[in-house]
Amino acid sequence: MYRLIHNFSLRDHNTFGISAIAKHYLTVNSHGDLLHFLKENNLSDYENRLFLGGGSNLLFINDFNGIVIHPEIGGIRLVSENKSFVEVEAGAGVNWDYFVEWCVEKGWGGIENLSLIPGNIGAVPVQNIGAYGVEAASAIIEVRGITLDSDSPAESVFNQQECKFGYRTSIFKAQLAGQFIVTSVLFRLSKRPGFQLQYEGLIEKVGQIGGTNLRTVRQAIIEIRKSKLPDPVIVGNAGSFFKNPVVSELIAKSLKNLHPDMPQYPIGSGLVKIAAGWLIEKTGWKGKSAGKAAIHDKQALVIINKGGASGKEIFRLSELVAEDVLRKFNIVLEREVQVVGN
Ligand SMILES: Cc1cc2nc3c(=O)[nH]c(=O)nc-3n(C[C@H](O)[C@H](O)[C@H](O)COP(=O)(O)OP(=O)(O)OC[C@H]3O[C@@H](n4cnc5c(N)ncnc54)[C@H](O)[C@@H]3O)c2cc1C
Repeated sequence: MYRLIHNFSLRDHNTFGISAIAKHYLTVNSHGDLLHFLKENNLSDYENRLFLGGGSNLLFINDFNGIVIHPEIGGIRLVSENKSFVEVEAGAGVNWDYFVEWCVEKGWGGIENLSLIPGNIGAVPVQNIGAYGVEAASAIIEVRGITLDSDSPAESVFNQQECKFGYRTSIFKAQLAGQFIVTSVLFRLSKRPGFQLQYEGLIEKVGQIGGTNLRTVRQAIIEIRKSKLPDPVIVGNAGSFFKNPVVSELIAKSLKNLHPDMPQYPIGSGLVKIAAGWLIEKTGWKGKSAGKAAIHDKQALVIINKGGASGKEIFRLSELVAEDVLRKFNIVLEREVQVVGN
């Protein structure tokens, strides 16, 4: 089944809570229904297109004068298993954290560190979500969907390598942006999980809760996240607004000479990740507002909507912050949040 609605309010469909209107809004319940719609309707008849999951990584700065496609494809299915692993497929419309909890309860490990990340399965490979030392790419083995770049929409399946995963990116976000709709994702999870607890404070938190197992790790992650990040149901936000910049070892060294307390994380291949939150904090923006938008007082990487902010207001604040970071450190901050509109 599919449903096409006109002049649809996106306010409850983006975690910033921005009041933007989509000229056309399509919901579909299955891969087959989406394919059917795309074969009967030419997407190039619409001025613009956007694929929307939970809207937790988007900033609307205008109304959307095109078609928003929102897959509501549900279903979680065990595809295969052996003594060590399971392969599980989940529909693009399944809530990510529901899926993580479901796997943890089954005793299948690999994604427990990604607990409580908002959004739906469809965006997971697009973004290659990551947290607490784990990226979704490590558990994804196939992404299924529909390619729109040819005259006729076609079903496509990408294996792990073809997804070209990188730091918060993939082929779906880069080369195939706007041309491939994810309809389901196949994950490989372990029946004998090894735990990734090296992230600061995690091992201690797990210890306080009890022995190390999937449930305690999930609970520890949830507690840490809740203590640091604002709940988007209460305060509009989209998590980290900026990516952590990556620089060469040479540049990292000269920055360290100038700022000995700058946290730096070598990531191999002669590259070093710098904590964007620290850079923003040092510009003095943490906890400060510009109109109805503000930098969160506990986590400088997060921009919040204090209530009634427009997308443009939030965008302007992000520009002010990025300009100050550039001026102070000569580092360009790249947005993690996708800005929609102009
Ligand atoms: C409080 C908070 C904390 C967060 N913490 C983290 C974190 O720790 N780590 C992290 O990585 N992210 C984090 N995020 C960001 C966000 O949750 C992730 O990027 C998430 O994967 C977005 O999912 P979504 O369904 O909301 O996607 P949306 O915001 O709807 O879309 C994100 C992108 O994916 C595309 N997309 C969505 N669905 C599809 C589809 N079916 N097919 C093709 N393209 C699609 C969209 O077009 C867009 O480009 C956080 C956000 C919030 C609000």
